[in-house]
This record gives sequence, C-alpha cells and structure tokens, in this order.
Amino acid sequence: MNDTATIVRPAPVTTEHFDVLIVGAGISGVGGAYHLTQQNPGTSFVVLETQESYGGTWLTHKYPGIRSDSDLYTFGYRFKPWTTAPIASAAEIRKYMGDVIDENHLAPHIRYRHKILTASWSSQDNLWTVDAMRTDTGQTLRFTCNFLWMCQGYYRHETGYTPEWAGMADFKGQIVHPQTWPEDLDYTGKRVVVIGSGATAATLIPAMAKKVGHITMLQRSPTFFRTGRNAIPIADELRELGIDETWIHEIVRRKILHEQAIFTRRAESEPEKVKQELLSGVRHYLGGDFDIDKHFTPNYRPWRQRIAFIPEGDLFSGVRDGKAEVVTDEIDRFVEGGILLKSGRTLEADIIVTATGFNLNVLGDIGFEIDGKPLDFAQTVTYRGMMFTGVPNMAWVFGYFRASWTLRADLVADFVCRLLSHMKEKGAHRVTPALREEDHNMPLLPWIDPENFNPGYLMRGMHLLPKRGDKPEWQHTQDYWNEKDEFPTLNLDGPEFVYD
Ligand SMILES: Cc1cc2nc3c(=O)[nH]c(=O)nc-3n(C[C@H](O)[C@H](O)[C@H](O)COP(=O)(O)OP(=O)(O)OC[C@H]3O[C@@H](n4cnc5c(N)ncnc54)[C@H](O)[C@@H]3O)c2cc1C
Repeated sequence: MNDTATIVRPAPVTTEHFDVLIVGAGISGVGGAYHLTQQNPGTSFVVLETQESYGGTWLTHKYPGIRSDSDLYTFGYRFKPWTTAPIASAAEIRKYMGDVIDENHLAPHIRYRHKILTASWSSQDNLWTVDAMRTDTGQTLRFTCNFLWMCQGYYRHETGYTPEWAGMADFKGQIVHPQTWPEDLDYTGKRVVVIGSGATAATLIPAMAKKVGHITMLQRSPTFFRTGRNAIPIADELRELGIDETWIHEIVRRKILHEQAIFTRRAESEPEKVKQELLSGVRHYLGGDFDIDKHFTPNYRPWRQRIAFIPEGDLFSGVRDGKAEVVTDEIDRFVEGGILLKSGRTLEADIIVTATGFNLNVLGDIGFEIDGKPLDFAQTVTYRGMMFTGVPNMAWVFGYFRASWTLRADLVADFVCRLLSHMKEKGAHRVTPALREEDHNMPLLPWIDPENFNPGYLMRGMHLLPKRGDKPEWQHTQDYWNEKDEFPTLNLDGPEFVYD
C-alpha cells in the first residue's frame, strides 16, 4: 500500500510495551488519549506523532488566514467548552488542544518526532509490533501494543496534491502548495493566481488580498459557499447572563446540530430551494450585476461536497472591491509569465498557489502485516467505518465530512473505550470483525457512494479504501444523527465480533 514499508533501516534498539498505541496527535489522537484516561483508567498508552508538536492539520497548515470552516462548538471536543467566536484560526485551535493536553496531564504520554513505519500483528502473541523512526536522529524504536488506535487523519501531511499541467517548468515565478507554505514567502504587491475554489482557496484569498497587487481565484467549476457572521448570538447572550461555559457549550452544540440536521434533510428533499438560498447569500455581497451563474453556481447538488463557510462574506468583499477576481475557465498550460487558459486568455502571475487538495492516505503510510502477510485494506470490509474485517485489535478514526470531524472522533473514542473494557471483562486478548453467515453473498461496493459525496481526494483514493456492504454493520454512513444514538448501544457480543 505504500513505500515506507520497504525502507531498509537499522534494527530497533529498544522495545517498549503499552496496552494501547495511538497513532497521531491531531484532534482525534489527543481526544482518544483523553477518553482513554477518563473511561479506562489504568490503561497504559502512548501517542506517537511524526511532527514536532500536537495539532495535526492545524500544525501542518501555515498558509495565510488558515482557519476552520466548521464552528468550534462542534469541532471542539464535547468535554471541553469552546468559549469564543465559532470560526477559529489554526493558532486558536492549537491553543485549545494544548489546554486539553495540559489540563489532563497528557503530555508525558505523547512522543513527538516518531514516525511509524510498520505495524505487524502476531496472532500467536496477540500483539502488534510497531516500528517507528525518530525523525530527528534516524533511530528506529520498537513498540508492542495490544490495541492500535489509528488517528492519523486522511491525507499525507508531507505533501499536498498538485496535478501535472503542461508547461509547469516554463513558469518563471514561484509555485506554492498551501500545505507546504514557505513561511518567508513575500507576496507584497505581487500578482497571485490561486488555482482552486474550495475552503482553502476561500480562506487564502481574503487573507492575501490585503497585501498582494492582484489576486485571482481560478476555478474549473464553481463551489457552494455559506455566508454569515462569525458569531453565535445565543452563546453571547448566555455569556452575558453569566451562564456556565459547560452549559453554553452543550446548548450551542445542540442548536448547531439541530440546524445542520434540518439543512442536510432539506439539501436532499428540496435541493433547488437550498441552492437558491446559498446563492442569495453570495448575491448579498456581490450585488445583482455580478455573474453569479457563471462563477458561483455549481452543477452539483448542495452537500455533495463540503460547503465552506465564509465568515462575514470576506471572500466576496475582496471580489466586489476589485482586489480579487474570479475566473472560471480551464488551464491550457503554464507559460513563462503565468497561465494560458483554454479561452485564450493569459493570467499573468508572479506566484501560483495550487489549492488543489490532498493526497489521501488511508492509514498513515504504514506498512501493515498480519501474521507475516502484507495487509491490503482495500480487501477488507469496513465495520461501521471504525474497524476492518480480518484486522484484529485495531480501530480507525475517520470523522464526518459534512458535520465536524470531532463529533465522530468522540463517538469512536467511546466505542473503543467500551470495546477495551468489554475485552477485559471477557478476558479476551483479541477482537476481529468478521462477516457473518448471512453476509457472505453480500455485494461489496466502494467505501462511499460517489452519488452521495464525491470530493476529488476521495475519488482519487477510493481504490485504497475498504469496501462497504449493504447492511448497516458494513457501512460508513457519515450520519452523525444516527450514529450518536446507535454507537453507544452496539452489541459487542454480536456475531460480527470474533473474540479469542
Ligand atoms: C486546511 C484544512 C481545514 C480543515 N477544516 C476543517 C473544519 O473546519 N472542520 C472539520 O470538521 N474538518 C476540517 N478539516 C478536516 C481535518 O483534517 C479534520 O477535521 C481533523 O483536523 C483531522 O484530525 P485528525 O487528528 O483525525 O487528523 P490530522 O489532523 O490529519 O492529524 C493526524 C496526525 O497523525 C500524524 N501521523 C500520520 N501518520 C503517522 C505515522 N505514520 N506515524 C506517526 N504519526 C502519524 C500526522 O503527523 C498528524 O499530526 C480540515 C482539513 C484541512 C486540511
């Protein structure tokens, strides 16, 4: 599944054992560590993280304006109140995560600069053996654990996805991907073209617009955006009344989730009406004369891709003021001075930003083996998007696309903690999801239905993902409103779990 497994490296010098090994210190891994300490006290665990600190996505991305596009009341953990404006910068999110680490004494459990290269399961010993490389010294360390908790996110952190365009080498300016932003990049007075119109482009453009000479958002096709204030009036009112922050957090979460449930239902049942509402939000900022049809009216149904939130309409204000331009066209090739479009127009540029997405990376580019045989996750079937058939003692955190990721990270954490307790009670050393008698002729489908959700990084990486069946146990539904009730009541003694 990846190249790292074949790296030749020196034999590990030490071996340490933990009950649970968590991969990654992003929002999911830090949350997992918290839940483990609360729900399974006494469990020994370690969090291994490649980067030099915690934060994951919020540490990796350093482009101008980097911020969430979900509200932090639901992107934040359910156990730690968010107390300020809902859309937050990466720095604010890291501060929040840092507080969680400090308040819960998690720091001694986290090892930074530890990149996991391989993980091998032995059925004889009921153990995972995990080899990690210290990124600062090159030293290889060996860990064993009973349970592997995969919180590695969904994309490769080292490099973003940049398509190959003709003539890229001819371009005399600088090409930059937002994921590997050079911190010393000076774009003052420069002509910048941003390729893409997803959440990243929509964040970058207003942040850069203040300093650039001119900035263009070049898109092949338009994206839906939601606009609104970066404030939750009810939160501010409750705060004025001196209500406890834990109450405010819960009330605001419920309100947002209630509204999102209605929105999701409406996007399905009355897509045209929802589409018109979203477009009128854009029109409000750009005025009636702007060609909204061409530049801001997607040809897909609302919600088939994530809808980025534009606080205070800042992307559109730049366009209205003439500092930023939107061009909907296709790239013919890069040329010395910029980009030649299929329409024949050339966009002059000093800097081209490729806000073109991610490289999907299913399980942290780790070379997995089970009893000496390489493991191909595409040959497994997902157990509710949390475990894999035939893969013992492993859970996987993949959050929501349409609701905040962390809502699911919290739910999966509860499931893992309950499963660990259950194994302890049963005296079981191993739990492996397996298809039941009745599942054997079940049709196996791609992990997610492209009719339902189809962003580029998933479509490019679908062949790496586990399969989905046609029964609830074997699907990754992406439905928070069902999962929040279903997960806590899942029967851990059902025939889909094999214990040894
Ligand atoms: C720019 C951007 C904005 C986003 N905004 C939102 C948003 O507003 N709302 C939302 O819900 N989602 C958003 N997302 C999705 C976002 O990635 C998730 O919500 C969330 O941050 C993922 O957290 P995570 O901990 O699961 O994974 P990540 O944040 O990806 O962290 C995974 C960590 O695991 C580490 N790791 C991976 N492989 C290994 C290995 N082999 N060995 C050791 N460590 C490893 C990585 O270094 C990384 O630190 C956004 C994504 C991006 C890129």
